[in-house]
Amino acid sequence: MGKRALVLGGGFAGLESAVRLRARGFEVTLVSDRPYLFIHPTSIWIPTGELAFDDACLDLAGVAARRGFELRVGKVEEIEGASRRAKVDGRRLAADHLVVALGASRLRPEGVEHTVTLGGDPAAATSFRMALEALLARGRGRIAVGFGGNPKAPSAVRGGPAFEVGFNLDALLRRRGLRDRFELTFFAPMARPGERMGAKAVEAVGRMLARQGIAARTGRKILSFDAGGVALEGGERIDADLVAFLPAGDGHPLARASDLPLDEAGFVRVDSGCAVPGMPGVWAVGDVAALEGPAWRAKQGHLAQAMARVAADNAASCEAGGAPCASYLGHLAIVCLMDTGTGGALVYRDDRTERLVPLPVVGHWMKKAWGRYFKAERRGVVPRFPGM
Ligand SMILES: Cc1cc2nc3c(=O)[nH]c(=O)nc-3n(C[C@H](O)[C@H](O)[C@H](O)COP(=O)(O)OP(=O)(O)OC[C@H]3O[C@@H](n4cnc5c(N)ncnc54)[C@H](O)[C@@H]3O)c2cc1C
Repeated sequence: MGKRALVLGGGFAGLESAVRLRARGFEVTLVSDRPYLFIHPTSIWIPTGELAFDDACLDLAGVAARRGFELRVGKVEEIEGASRRAKVDGRRLAADHLVVALGASRLRPEGVEHTVTLGGDPAAATSFRMALEALLARGRGRIAVGFGGNPKAPSAVRGGPAFEVGFNLDALLRRRGLRDRFELTFFAPMARPGERMGAKAVEAVGRMLARQGIAARTGRKILSFDAGGVALEGGERIDADLVAFLPAGDGHPLARASDLPLDEAGFVRVDSGCAVPGMPGVWAVGDVAALEGPAWRAKQGHLAQAMARVAADNAASCEAGGAPCASYLGHLAIVCLMDTGTGGALVYRDDRTERLVPLPVVGHWMKKAWGRYFKAERRGVVPRFPGM
């Protein structure tokens, strides 16, 4: 019988960990608090009604059966790194390798309950859709879309999806012939939001906001939200009937309550091989982990999956008596097919290159096709293409 691995979290990082560890001969148990993986990148179309909620969900039981790991749907309540154990629904589970893949929590600025959002609890996407439809039924109004920062963890901001939401709202209003009756405003505390994607991307996004008539209010700290909009530093306000806001990520509360070493934002410290320092057999992958590397580094789905493969390969090396030599640092790159509602742009950034490739019309359909491909590949219906 193979060594046992316990994977906590059923998102991009957790599922990839389970699949790779199983392929490396481990007996794997994956714990997820929901029976499905939520595909955040395609959830941007739930509020505008272009994607049904279920289409952004991948049933984990089917994948587990196909890939040969055990799925436990339950809530992780405690993590004990030193003993490689976790408490799940009141029961302690132990393993030879513990992979922490619980994702991030999110900062909660004052009054955030007055906003609609994406990310975090998947149900938020449906609430967003209902609030948007209620406003559109009124026939006119003001919508503000923005994202927040986390000075302690700049890699945890969600700028790209906020731009996508703004452009998709613009496209929806145009499709319905309502654009001239709704004001759209984009806001962010940074002077140059999206800068980590590279200078070309910032300029292109700025041009596009202007072209679509979306006002930009950037460079002012967000103080709070209320029923009438957003309060900004310096006594400024954005008055809005609906505020869509994507807060920055923050450390997971279970990691904070555990013995795992954390950075100042509450993310789990790892070395380049995704091993948690001082805790043999404990790994942290995806958004839950503290990233090292260049200032522009960003927590993304593709990186979460790469980290999962690195950790699994290193766990297998350790069991074979070798040294863990895989590293996630070579996978640090921003790769984003940014949707604009009617098209898209491929944004790529690494240490050497900054690219933005406009993909009018086709970009939108490529991202949609990626969502379908991801589900089919995870289910084992189609093979995995290199780099995807
Ligand atoms: C709107 C949006 C759009 C995005 N678009 C892109 C994109 O286009 N490209 C890209 O690369 N990235 C994108 N991202 C980022 C990407 O989705 C994340 O980086 C990725 O989901 C991280 O994967 P993860 O597995 O680490 O975390 P998550 O996907 O957050 O998964 C964590 C899992 O752990 C589970 N969990 C948490 N707590 C517990 C508990 N106590 N017990 C049991 N289970 C628990 C959660 O339910 C969840 O299933 C986007 C994010 C958002 C919000």
